[in-house]
Amino acid sequence: MTAEEKALGKLLEYGHFHQEDSKVEGIAKRAMSHGYDSLTQPQKAVLSKHLTRDCEGVTDPGGHHNGCQAELEGEALAEALDRESYGDGFICDSCDQESHEHQRQWDKMNAE
Ligand SMILES: [Zn+2]
Repeated sequence: MTAEEKALGKLLEYGHFHQEDSKVEGIAKRAMSHGYDSLTQPQKAVLSKHLTRDCEGVTDPGGHHNGCQAELEGEALAEALDRESYGDGFICDSCDQESHEHQRQWDKMNAE
């Protein structure tokens, strides 16, 4: 499975195409069954805006947003969609680590 197909699989799984024209979901499904490379250029162009998305970034316990603007695509996009579905927000790997670090800080503060 290519990186695009992994990302499209998650987008389909989490219903991200429900707001779109049904042909968009149809193209995504075709990519899943026949391979992303079987799509025509115009079909790929329709999907392209769904295949990159900016990280939301994380806010530290002091209320400071880290301003992350990482653009996620492929497998990184698929992973971020998983995190979003768990309620962790649409964030990149590095923000995920940062967010866990914040969590540790909170736990420590609350334990003191
Ligand atoms: Zn990030």
